[in-house]
Amino acid sequence: MRASAPVDHSEVLVRPMTQQPRRRFADLNPPTRLLCGSGPSNPEPRVLRALATPLIGQFDPAFTEIMDDVMALGRLVFQTENRRSFPVSGSSRSGLEAVLASVLEPGDRVVVGNYGRFGDLFCEIARRYGADVTSIDAEWGTIVEPDRVVAELKARPTKLVAIVHADTSTGILQPLAEIGAACRVYDALLVVDAVLSIGGCELDVDRWQLDACIGGLQKCLGGPSGMAPLTYNERVEAALHARRSPPPTNYLDLLQLQAYWSADRLNHHTAPTSMVYALREALRIVDEEGLDARWMRHRAANAALVAGLEAMGLELFGDRAHKAPMITLVRVPEGIDEAAVRGQLLDDFGIEIMAAFGPLNGLVWRIGLMGYNARLECAVTVLGALEHVLSARGYRAPSGAGQQAALAHAKGAAVA
Ligand SMILES: *Cc1c(COP(=O)(O)O)cnc(C)c1O
Repeated sequence: MRASAPVDHSEVLVRPMTQQPRRRFADLNPPTRLLCGSGPSNPEPRVLRALATPLIGQFDPAFTEIMDDVMALGRLVFQTENRRSFPVSGSSRSGLEAVLASVLEPGDRVVVGNYGRFGDLFCEIARRYGADVTSIDAEWGTIVEPDRVVAELKARPTKLVAIVHADTSTGILQPLAEIGAACRVYDALLVVDAVLSIGGCELDVDRWQLDACIGGLQKCLGGPSGMAPLTYNERVEAALHARRSPPPTNYLDLLQLQAYWSADRLNHHTAPTSMVYALREALRIVDEEGLDARWMRHRAANAALVAGLEAMGLELFGDRAHKAPMITLVRVPEGIDEAAVRGQLLDDFGIEIMAAFGPLNGLVWRIGLMGYNARLECAVTVLGALEHVLSARGYRAPSGAGQQAALAHAKGAAVA
């Protein structure tokens, strides 16, 4: 060992305030956008402020109280008395995968009501965990007829039925109560993806007999992506305990997660503190607004958008009787370049709308008015911009017709 001279650290510790560190990358400065696609939508300003709240430790009593609030608020928004109501730390599909991974064992029969891309996601996840999957495919733009699910339940013993409440890829809202009742009769668990619908339209977990239900934060709840609130009942919990062996996942093991999100506070992962704050604030806003008022706001804003689109001579996609009230699929008119229109909306107006997946790609746009954006002013802004962009490309609609129809519709709706 060589003796070294004492080092003077004063220069690194006491840096003059005027001496700026060398900046190799530009300041973080993303553009401001109006997010009217399929999610994420613009978060509530209050949720953004919650994200900037100081962090505390996850076993700090002040934090466990916040966790308790998140669980209680989740029950209100899911409309359930379930003991288990907590979020999985991850984007919405982490909640879907946690339920399937924790319930399913290799060889279990799963029936998926599949009417869009997120039905495919259920099939894919279930297969990865070794399930024997039967997919009941409905044409895109239609619902899965509940009779078809009942027929599959009658045909063979089924461990689990999985179905999406509102599929973002097709803009269709699936009725669930009849399927819920049938699952009790045939002793299958009903797992529902309510990622799009939660906070945007009626979702009644207990009355519809949904055994497990998973939501998302970045659509109608008005937060950023990154938390998957979910709830499940005793039937699901019994299935978790009845497994022959633990599920092949640690991060998404519901028994471990529920032990963490309970009075035991058994250490699992480090809570993403800021995201827990954001989820709490988003759910608190839903509670303050009231469920009925919030659903009505989504219906009204989206109906105004539809009135405007139709006044412009545009045609909607899908079964109108089962249209989801937070997203609208509109057909691209003959001769119009689908992607170019989206590009110009983004470049010239800072508005994001979305392309479509699979069989609908290139044929429709998806316009979502969700959460904080489920407001008349967003509908009117999108309509005005769309009219400008379409007319610049040769599409002819009566000038101002879209915005006028939306405003007139909103006024009429307010009187009615
Ligand atoms: C957005 C969405 C998902 C996936 O959510 P991520 O947060 O991207 O994981 C799942 N299901 C539906 C119906 C959705 O709309």
